[in-house]
Amino acid sequence: MSQFANTQTAPTAPREFGFWLDGAYQGGRELFERSSPGHGVPVTLIPKCTVDDLNAAVAAARRTFEDRSWAGISGAERAGVLLRTAQILRDRRDEIAYWEVLENGKPISQARGEIDHCIACFEVAAGAARLLHGDSFNSLGDNLFGMVLREPVGVVGLITPWNFPFLILCERVPFILASGCTMVVKPSEVTSATTLILGEILADAGLPKGAYNVVTGSGRTIGQALTEHPDVDMLSFTGSTSVGRSVVHAAADTNFKKLGLELGGKNPIIVFADADLEDAADGAAFGISFNTGQCCVSSSRLIVDRRVAKEFEEILARKMKKIVVGDPLDESTQVGAITTSQQNETIMSYIAKGNAEGARLVTGGSQMDLGKGTYIEPTLFSDVTKGMSIATDEIFGPVLSSFHFDTTEEAIHLANDTVYGLAASVWSKNIDTALSVTRRVRAGRFWVNCIMAGGPEMPLGGFKQSGWGREAGVYGVEEYTQVKSVHIDTGKRSHWIK
Ligand code: NAD
Repeated sequence: MSQFANTQTAPTAPREFGFWLDGAYQGGRELFERSSPGHGVPVTLIPKCTVDDLNAAVAAARRTFEDRSWAGISGAERAGVLLRTAQILRDRRDEIAYWEVLENGKPISQARGEIDHCIACFEVAAGAARLLHGDSFNSLGDNLFGMVLREPVGVVGLITPWNFPFLILCERVPFILASGCTMVVKPSEVTSATTLILGEILADAGLPKGAYNVVTGSGRTIGQALTEHPDVDMLSFTGSTSVGRSVVHAAADTNFKKLGLELGGKNPIIVFADADLEDAADGAAFGISFNTGQCCVSSSRLIVDRRVAKEFEEILARKMKKIVVGDPLDESTQVGAITTSQQNETIMSYIAKGNAEGARLVTGGSQMDLGKGTYIEPTLFSDVTKGMSIATDEIFGPVLSSFHFDTTEEAIHLANDTVYGLAASVWSKNIDTALSVTRRVRAGRFWVNCIMAGGPEMPLGGFKQSGWGREAGVYGVEEYTQVKSVHIDTGKRSHWIK
């Protein structure tokens, strides 16, 4: 059994990391300290990389891409590395979960479940690496044969947020590697540890040096420099819509690098009167409280049939009160700490706005004093109306805003009344209702009578201002390829010059 399996306490001293360049840790940089949001003690020391470090990382990724030691090997060989990575992740699951909890504040049981999902990502990507293929055209006449090749885009920059540091990383890295690309990753400054640990694991699994590099530091310096780098062919950015907009400008102002953007959401959960209300309430409580609501696909807008709204909100409030909020290292905890003090302030300011703007607080609404760390009660507001801040803004916390509808048309209109289009959920026992709502609400991920279900086979991504492109599954591998049309003349040329 791993030494981390039964660890119930934060470390007595922070662990010092180097950044990951060309297959090894590099030290000697100024360090910044990260404290555990659940315990308030320092847990990691992370390097403040310089732009020179970033340039070295991009150069390593470029060299490895061009020397064909990764792009030029067979899909089967790439799959071998990805499958060995999955096995090492299995062996180091408890250790990675431990560091994830310490930097992020999520419950240990949830973190372990996320590592299992990450293992599955590597396994699915291994299959996709072997099956990746192009196309052919036998329809161009007897003298012309057409082939469509899929080629890796090249050097990818990957910028990730703090809410699911390892999960979001693993929903991208194996698929990027499956395509034959190499990469430079810039994790969030507050949750860099597990992204660095993945470097060790990939090296042990046999990934060539330089294929995976990690530079740590602030978004404004290192992140911005990565988005502007002229030798990066594609940038995959996951984070806020506002920074996503600056990424688009940076790409346009430099080399028009290809972009993948996974941004914010204000996701509807639509509950019809004929739904199983107990199931739907459990789904709604989970959808807003999971990961303390710091989840791009959190169901943060409840859109409920007016005929059952009062009853439903009562069931939901009862369930939300029973959620176990506490020390993320405690096995029984369901909801952990808010990841940063800044995010804690943001959430509390939205709760204050909800009260001030006239919404009705049904449950929650307070900061919790657990003696250490930052915790907020799962919160439900009813009588929310268009124009209130809690109706429109992505709060990124455990705050659910409830709206009531009279007709299916009104429910669809309310669901679509947002600049975002990331995810949605509908609850009804009527197949016509469930399917017509699914087809008309504009969102990249949809759940019918369930919420946040799925696996790495399924593509992820958003409509509208929630982003561009798709990650995971075969779609995710294809995203990191370019297609090349090849035309082959198989006969005698019909001469132009007579
Ligand atoms: P953020 O946009 O502040 O930061 C995300 C990453 O970008 C971090 O690594 C940060 O250091 C970096 N960054 C910051 N400024 C930058 C700049 N100018 N140039 C380049 N990089 C920069 O987001 P966050 O607070 O870490 O995460 C929360 C946001 O992420 C929410 O809006 C959430 O909805 C979104 N998110 C989306 C998805 C998705 O799949 N759609 C998943 C998770 C989170």
